[in-house]
Amino acid sequence: MLSEDLIVRRRRVLRGLRQYYDLPFHPIRGEGCWLYDVEGRKVLDAYNNVPHVGHCHPHVVEAICRQVRELNTNTRYLFEPIVEYAEKLVATMPDGLDACIFTCTGSEANDLAWRLASNFSGNTGVITSENAYHGNTTFLDQIDGSSTKARRENPNWWIRVPAPPARQSGDAREDKVAAVAYAGQCASAVAELIGRGHPPAAFYFESLFCTDGIRVPRPGFMGEAISKVREVGGLIIVDEVQAGLARCGTDWWAFQNLGVEPDIVVMGKPMGNGLPVGVVVARHEIVDAFYARDRYFNTFAGNPVCCAAGIAVLEVIEREQLKLNALRIGTLLKRKIEGLMERHPNIGGVRGRGLLLGIELVIDQSTMTPASRQARWVINEMCRRGVLVGLTGPDRNARNILKVRPPLVFDEHAVDVFMTTLDAVLADLPSRLE
Ligand code: PMP
Repeated sequence: MLSEDLIVRRRRVLRGLRQYYDLPFHPIRGEGCWLYDVEGRKVLDAYNNVPHVGHCHPHVVEAICRQVRELNTNTRYLFEPIVEYAEKLVATMPDGLDACIFTCTGSEANDLAWRLASNFSGNTGVITSENAYHGNTTFLDQIDGSSTKARRENPNWWIRVPAPPARQSGDAREDKVAAVAYAGQCASAVAELIGRGHPPAAFYFESLFCTDGIRVPRPGFMGEAISKVREVGGLIIVDEVQAGLARCGTDWWAFQNLGVEPDIVVMGKPMGNGLPVGVVVARHEIVDAFYARDRYFNTFAGNPVCCAAGIAVLEVIEREQLKLNALRIGTLLKRKIEGLMERHPNIGGVRGRGLLLGIELVIDQSTMTPASRQARWVINEMCRRGVLVGLTGPDRNARNILKVRPPLVFDEHAVDVFMTTLDAVLADLPSRLE
């Protein structure tokens, strides 16, 4: 009843603002990886990466409250938390990635990364992966490969390369052949941009290619492709908005497992556990070259309260060993999903690392035809039965990958609830769907 009234009021003033599930979901309280809805249902959150260390984590809440009671200003004044947070962040990075600029969102950070890259390289072209989404600013909207909206004409300074293959053979020689072929595609993209008068300033990609349906390149796979961009002065911008901050279980940042050395790293969503924290980390010469010619002030970015939240998130990850948890629980979950494949021919495979997993739904395992309609039915049904899960896909017409990207405090009990629900929902999957 409460929700129905809210739906009407929401529609009246917020118009076309979309909701994720067919049946609106109305949570009113959160704790760990659990949400409680307006009807008192306890719902497992297997999707949201913003409440990274758990919904309403007491340590983060306390840090925010302490700071908001004391002082909240902006980066025009001196204050301790921003320096401490920046120091802590660069300490998680490989050597050389040593300078930070704060933003409020991942979009702002990707947009700023573009300004840094074009300023430093003097180039004007951009390469992204086929289905990439990097944010919602006017610039990023022009290079949005993920969108289902009607396409306007693509700018001639933007080109797309395919994401790395979803499945790699595991055979070193075959993987090498695939990497060389991939580098060839990047070399062609670079040549094409040069031909159009726009040599690349940047190659943007997500470490785990989430919006391309989750791809996990083997260590070294991207190396040659990257060198094709660097040869003409282009910079490598790695977008860690979804995969970063210990989610993949082995390192702080997902790119560290790819053997990639980015020039610029972009962070967002999970950084403040819900407070708006976006960050660009880059080599200091890139940042210095930018400040020498340009300036960046963002009223709310890097304010003391947001930085206090960011520091508290890093502390919780360390104290509660959440990187290890992501690896342990993510591996367990992946193994259990693989175990379901025999009973459910609609599961074509599961891929990802740590607590970022994609479950590929197919019509059947022999043809591997994407089961997009079925996937949408599954996420709606999972939500109805008390588990939140998301959807992504290798192209805008085939969103058939269930995206599992929960808070890092996901535990064995959560795995059991997830598996029982997925199993039951797949068993009830209608054979025909309109
Ligand atoms: N990059 C990636 C990979 C994202 O998934 C998103 C958000 N979905 C963004 C950038 C943009 O972040 P924000 O919504 O905070 O602007």
